[in-house]
Amino acid sequence: MKKIIFNLLYNTLLTKNFILPFKKGIRYVFVFHDISNASSFHNSSTYSTDIKIFENNIDWIQKHFKIVALNKLTDKLYRDDHHSNLASIVFDDGFYSVLESAFPYLNKKKIPFAVFANQTAIQENWLWCSSLLIAKKNNNVKYLENIFRKIVEYNKLSFEEFVRDPVTSICDSKLPNDDYSIFREPEYERDKIYLDEKDMKFLFSEGVIIGNHTKTHKHLSSCSNETIKQEIIENKEYLERLLNSEIDHFAFPFGFHTTYNAYALKIAHQAHSFVYDTTKNYLKFSNQDLIPRIALQNEDKAKLFSYINYPLIRNLD
Ligand SMILES: [Zn+2]
Repeated sequence: MKKIIFNLLYNTLLTKNFILPFKKGIRYVFVFHDISNASSFHNSSTYSTDIKIFENNIDWIQKHFKIVALNKLTDKLYRDDHHSNLASIVFDDGFYSVLESAFPYLNKKKIPFAVFANQTAIQENWLWCSSLLIAKKNNNVKYLENIFRKIVEYNKLSFEEFVRDPVTSICDSKLPNDDYSIFREPEYERDKIYLDEKDMKFLFSEGVIIGNHTKTHKHLSSCSNETIKQEIIENKEYLERLLNSEIDHFAFPFGFHTTYNAYALKIAHQAHSFVYDTTKNYLKFSNQDLIPRIALQNEDKAKLFSYINYPLIRNLD
């Protein structure tokens, strides 16, 4: 019964703009991944946002919030004269499409943004999750069967179940020696999918804030403490060398509470001032271990309002 009422509320009342106009200084972070159309080789229904929908969503965010850089949004003391509601735009994983398709639009509108990047993607043009999803999209049975046979525990799920949601299946599995190189497929690395070092330097020179998103985007809560430390610290040091600048923002891969553990949290907090997860909430500055970010993909306006209204209605003060 409770769930029915909740769904009804979520799909009706919460889709209307009835709270935000009465709020001041509320802050949200919106996170996107890949911005590309269905015809792109690497496009995936799991992480891609259609270019036109992206532009519409940016317009929507700009209509309802003042969009500021991440370092302003996370600065408790920052406020403009109108005490506006604030938003920041960020991209995870460092897809090349951020430079190719998102940057021209954001730059034209002078909208600041941040990119949370991975060394493996920058240097080798692959991440295990995109390779896996490209294999799924192309129905590469040989590739998928090899992964299934070597990593997924047979008694847990069937091959068909694995293929239905391969990334979650891998997150639920334990990889020998935390080694994700089994996911490499040279054929999928030929097309430029991720920003390279030159692109990163260019975006940084344009004022884009660069954050740490771990070295290889592993599922940290399945990894050993040693791997967790390497994934977080080595990527921070790599990005700092590359950009000759301190990296102070860190976002957990996947960003759900099941995808990191207490040790990963400790290491992330020790090395960064700002640590983010992916939960549908706004920034409160108190009683929040992690800075929440709302993941967007291809939402319509009604859904966007639901996303921002729901945490506000839960915390009506
Ligand atoms: Zn990611």
